[in-house]
Amino acid sequence: GGISRPPAAGRGIPRPNVTLTHPDRVYWPDAGVTKEGLADYYAQVWRRMGPLVVNRPLALLRCPSGITGQRFFQKHAWKGMNRNIATLSDPKSPGDSLISISDLDGLIGLVQAAALEIHPWGSSAEDWERPDMIVMDLDPGDGVGWGAVVEGAAEVRQRLADAGLESFVKISGGKGVHVTAPLKPHATWPEVKAFCKGIADAMARDTPDRYVSTIAKARRKGKILIDYLRNQRGATAVAAYSSRARPGAPVSVPVGWDELPELTPDHFSVATLPARLDALSHDPWEGFFKSAKPLRSQKKGRKG
Ligand code: ATP
Ligand code: MN
Ligand code: MN
Repeated sequence: GGISRPPAAGRGIPRPNVTLTHPDRVYWPDAGVTKEGLADYYAQVWRRMGPLVVNRPLALLRCPSGITGQRFFQKHAWKGMNRNIATLSDPKSPGDSLISISDLDGLIGLVQAAALEIHPWGSSAEDWERPDMIVMDLDPGDGVGWGAVVEGAAEVRQRLADAGLESFVKISGGKGVHVTAPLKPHATWPEVKAFCKGIADAMARDTPDRYVSTIAKARRKGKILIDYLRNQRGATAVAAYSSRARPGAPVSVPVGWDELPELTPDHFSVATLPARLDALSHDPWEGFFKSAKPLRSQKKGRKG
């Protein structure tokens, strides 16, 4: 190395056209990540992140004073919102103006608004009622080892494959993983939710010492919650490449299935992910939307 380059410049990295006020405001004191540092990070990941976040409703975790201060979840547009942030009107609730973005400037508008986590819906505004992705959220309880989480993710992958769906995995930036299957928008929210509940319930039934499918916390110690409830209208899951409002400025990262055993859920951060992406020869989520299949109605009465 030796030759440094200015952040958010060169190598095809887009340059946003958004004014940041207080660019030196520290969002992650422990990691030394500022508002400007977060904006530079998003410019570097935008090419990969953009297709997964544009034109869908977003819930934001906003932390105006950084991760050590007050925080709140927000899904509605607000007065004085940065003009680069877009809005969507929910057809089922037309008075509601929901937050969305159309481009990198919108994402940097969210950074300006101290959105330290970005959580999209599983359907886009092109078809609000028919999700274009499933997210199975694996939440390990206390005492669950990483190997068991990896095995749980592999089992979810297999069960999705049994239903004809290809799936992709990301580490959450927190404690678990998300197994994501792109869908052709065909089945409705209630159908998709029932399908996902079916997988979670089957895993809990087949291997009750490992998996639970209901949130009853007391039963979670030593087990993995297969949280299928991301898959209902209005629910969200953290976006691929979103930062997390947790110590170390971790990020949620798409990874290859073969990489998963060697990782931890918060392995990459705002500071370290760009170097991984520069070095990657193959995007582990390449062909994500191209591999989407419609969810077929599930056969009843299968044994097992
Ligand atoms: P981890 O790997 O640590 O579980 P996670 O992102 O999966 O990270 P969860 O606690 O499992 O975190 O939360 C699942 C999802 O629920 C979040 O990603 C978010 O989209 C949604 N969520 C969490 N808190 C709220 C909230 N207050 N309001 C609305 N949605 C929320
Ligand atoms: Mn989770
Ligand atoms: Mn969860």
